[in-house]
Amino acid sequence: MSVKTITMTAQQIDALEKRLTQAQKRKTPPYARFQYQTSDCVITAYLSGKVVFQGEGADFYAPSHTPATSITMSSFPQAGSDEVGTGDYFGPVVVCACLVTFEDAKILKELQVTDSKAMKDDMIRKIAPRLLKLPHSLLILNNEDYNRVHQQDHMVAIKCKMHNHAYVHLRRKANGLPASIIIDQFVQEKSYYRYLQDQPEIIRGIHFETKAESKYPAVAAASVLARYAFLTTFDTMCKQYDFPFPKGAGKQVDEAILSFVKRYGEEALAKVAKLHFANTKKALSK
Ligand code: MG
Repeated sequence: MSVKTITMTAQQIDALEKRLTQAQKRKTPPYARFQYQTSDCVITAYLSGKVVFQGEGADFYAPSHTPATSITMSSFPQAGSDEVGTGDYFGPVVVCACLVTFEDAKILKELQVTDSKAMKDDMIRKIAPRLLKLPHSLLILNNEDYNRVHQQDHMVAIKCKMHNHAYVHLRRKANGLPASIIIDQFVQEKSYYRYLQDQPEIIRGIHFETKAESKYPAVAAASVLARYAFLTTFDTMCKQYDFPFPKGAGKQVDEAILSFVKRYGEEALAKVAKLHFANTKKALSK
């Protein structure tokens, strides 16, 4: 028999009770708020906020994906992944998948870890080293490799494969993956698996949700770790070429392309930039 124990807020317990209109209400046990019996599950909500689901229907009645804003034990451990660098002309594409327990999530909340796009770079540099001890898998696709792969795959396909790779690595590292796996959605679920068709190992059972970085601690942590790796690689690039590469894909990028090519030649551009961006043509056809 399957048993699930979950801590829920008063509102979540109210919402749960509303779902149980077909169930039979039983005598309330000590310290409980209510107990219901369905055809395949006994649900007991305690005054402490703990809710116990017993029986074959436990998975059906117990909530699974609970947003980070209301951290409850139900959604942990969870794995989440996110990518950065896809909007930057210069620098790599980085994908990170990360595993977070309920205890970790409480720490992440204290550290105010959220969507990396909402955090300043200084903050990322300060906080990310503390997240490195979380089980995670980090993939950095440098520009040379990116440009090579891009001759066959477009950006979305590359991202799908990188997310899948990251989870395959994480599964190996952590000896398994939890039931809750969340991707910050950048593509429809169907298309995601279509792009993975020829991959030797495919991780399934993933929950896709937009803006997941601000809702799920594991996605937020992955997004911060990915951003940190991006910044570190970017710093190294700037040092190596003694060149102030700008981020993004705006006007300063077009200007930077010209001065970089002047100094290092057009061939060197493939080592630092995503060549298929419109910036390349725009800058070099002038
Ligand atoms: Mg994202």
